[in-house]
Amino acid sequence: MKQDNSLTKHIDIIGGGPAGMMAAIIAAGKGGRVRLWEKNGSLGRKLLATGNGRCNFTNQNISLDKFHGGDLKLAGNILGDLGLKGTLDFFEGLGLTYYADSRGRYFPRSNEASSVLFCLEQEMKRLGVEISLRSEMVTLARTPDGWEISQRGAKHGSEAVILACGGAASPQFGSTGQGYELASKQSHAIVTPEPALVPLMLAGNWFHKLQGLRMDLRLTISRDGKIVFDIIDEGLFTHYGLSGPLALKASRMISAKDLECRINFLPYIDEIEVELLLKERRQRLGPRLAKDFLTGLLPEKLGQAMVLQSWLDIDSPCREISDLQMERLQKNLCNWKTDIKGRRPFKEAQVTAGGVDCRQVFPETLMSKKAPGLFFCGELLDVDGDTGGYNLQWCWSSGYAAGKAAAEYVLGRDR
Ligand SMILES: Cc1cc2nc3c(=O)[nH]c(=O)nc-3n(C[C@H](O)[C@H](O)[C@H](O)COP(=O)(O)OP(=O)(O)OC[C@H]3O[C@@H](n4cnc5c(N)ncnc54)[C@H](O)[C@@H]3O)c2cc1C
Repeated sequence: MKQDNSLTKHIDIIGGGPAGMMAAIIAAGKGGRVRLWEKNGSLGRKLLATGNGRCNFTNQNISLDKFHGGDLKLAGNILGDLGLKGTLDFFEGLGLTYYADSRGRYFPRSNEASSVLFCLEQEMKRLGVEISLRSEMVTLARTPDGWEISQRGAKHGSEAVILACGGAASPQFGSTGQGYELASKQSHAIVTPEPALVPLMLAGNWFHKLQGLRMDLRLTISRDGKIVFDIIDEGLFTHYGLSGPLALKASRMISAKDLECRINFLPYIDEIEVELLLKERRQRLGPRLAKDFLTGLLPEKLGQAMVLQSWLDIDSPCREISDLQMERLQKNLCNWKTDIKGRRPFKEAQVTAGGVDCRQVFPETLMSKKAPGLFFCGELLDVDGDTGGYNLQWCWSSGYAAGKAAAEYVLGRDR
């Protein structure tokens, strides 16, 4: 195995995603000699998939209630050091122009995630970060001088290592949970990783008929009669159930047992109004077939499915719909009781909940309390955010903290 001993004063960053690239820029900007190791053939593969290829890179409403994890005090600390303004200034400085949409989500003006990646790559080039692609780091070990990381066929000595390997979500982009192994071998506890921001599987065999339908819905989840989740947002029906921002937001709740879930298909109309509206339609649409009773009020596929689910006689005229059928229809439209079977797997998740336990990491520097010179950032840590740009903000903020602290650690030791 090749050993490179000449480069022992390096900061080595494992993982070329948003967190690792941010850490590289900050550490190199502070004068550190930085090497970035990425196992894929290119950097930022997951970054390119964000925001449907548009990259929702932060949000106007950064606040701690948008984040989850075992130690939110640490998250607050880190987000306080590089928050929204610092992040926008940083990207502006790299030549990225951006805009916020009506929901406060920031996107590059180009609407291309590749613009964000390009800016980060250019800055790393300017600062002399050494980038090695197709370089999967398989072990990490302490040495008397610092650290040794190794890939198949070569070992590299370094003074500080930043683990930025991502979590276990969407492994097709490169992060397969290897960071957890590397961290746990250094005695770090791992909070069990779970898929988060992931579509939901619904019980019943009629949802597949709605596949591809996108609409605003209200989803209410209760436990023991107490409402624990209640929001209106866009849902996307799929062959297995529900995706879209609504499902992703709800997915965090779904590991809990004994949940009762209800969908309101007419979230902007009061229930009493729906009742009146249906009665008025029965009168007005008299001879029309009951199959099409809801067409015009709801998307056709959904209207017809609701008519069937409410046991209306589809071939009879609307005027023959009974009061009992009307009542059932109103109940189904406003209060559809549905059984959520579970979440889709990691492969379809946008992020990981859980990860390296933040209590074993210094809250200012993200350096390990167990192994000096080892730093963490990004999704690998037990911090995850809501949908809306919060997860990338966590990458920018934690990459900033780890990069800055690693450079100070190495340069301080040089003096
Ligand atoms: C489809 C999709 C859409 C999303 N959209 C948004 C969005 O719009 N806004 C938002 O805020 N968040 C979004 N996210 C979440 C966001 O992409 C992640 O939170 C973010 O990419 C995590 O960054 P990271 O640098 O921690 O990890 P990653 O992006 O996973 O990067 C880690 C890198 O490390 C590499 N690596 C892993 N192990 C090793 C090793 N042993 N050696 C070398 N390299 C290694 C991996 O190949 C990978 O490139 C989305 C996620 C998905 C999947």
